[in-house]
Amino acid sequence: MPKPYKLSALEGKVIAIDGPAGSGKSTTARLLAAKLGFLYLDTGAMYRAVTLFALRNNVSADDARALEAIALKVDIRFQNDGDVNRVVLNGEDVTEAVRSPEVTRAVSPVSAHPGVRKAMVLRQQQLAKNGNVVAEGRDTTSVVFPEADIKVYLDASPETRARRRLIEYSRKGVETTFEKQLEDINARDAFDSNRSHSPLTRTRDSMLLDTTNLTIDEQVERILKLVKARVSSL
Ligand code: C5P
Repeated sequence: MPKPYKLSALEGKVIAIDGPAGSGKSTTARLLAAKLGFLYLDTGAMYRAVTLFALRNNVSADDARALEAIALKVDIRFQNDGDVNRVVLNGEDVTEAVRSPEVTRAVSPVSAHPGVRKAMVLRQQQLAKNGNVVAEGRDTTSVVFPEADIKVYLDASPETRARRRLIEYSRKGVETTFEKQLEDINARDAFDSNRSHSPLTRTRDSMLLDTTNLTIDEQVERILKLVKARVSSL
């Protein structure tokens, strides 16, 4: 991997990226973090880990108290493994398991509970307390890191995002269809944007980047440009 950029003015800074499912946040944030030598904080993976634990223990997505208890108790860690950001739940590598269709379907109702969110936000802020972080999710620009130094909102058309998911699943050998993915994306968008606690929104100070016609490399370059411009004004 190439050496990270040396941008000393970026030392201790937080870059926050939000956007809907399939907008390219995860890959963009991971690559950007690698280029800058920052920690990549995948907040969605944390909600997915709580959801996986709940599914395995037959805890219903309606059971706010049990879910909050899980969110407070489980141990969630990230391990950088080359191109992969490994998710470790109570010592077990669950990187693949948290991306299963079952978890993907259940994660939005689980993460809508205020108690679950409070527990996750505290952990995310703790992980980023020394800065040098690229965080991504739904509320990193608004609730988790309202003071983030650089904020980006990624978006793309629902059809583009559904197509990306279809490709991702077909690579993993999961059988699905474009229509099913579009339906899932639309349902998750509606749930994440309309919930009463920290819904997905674009804050006024977030730069909007529409990724419909961009490759991942182009997305990373655009954000790097923004970072450099911001750094020279810091
Ligand atoms: O980004 P990803 O698709 O992995 O996120 C999975 C789900 O976790 C989202 O659909 C959303 O319901 C929830 N989430 C959230 N807040 C975040 C990140 C993810 O509510 N900051």
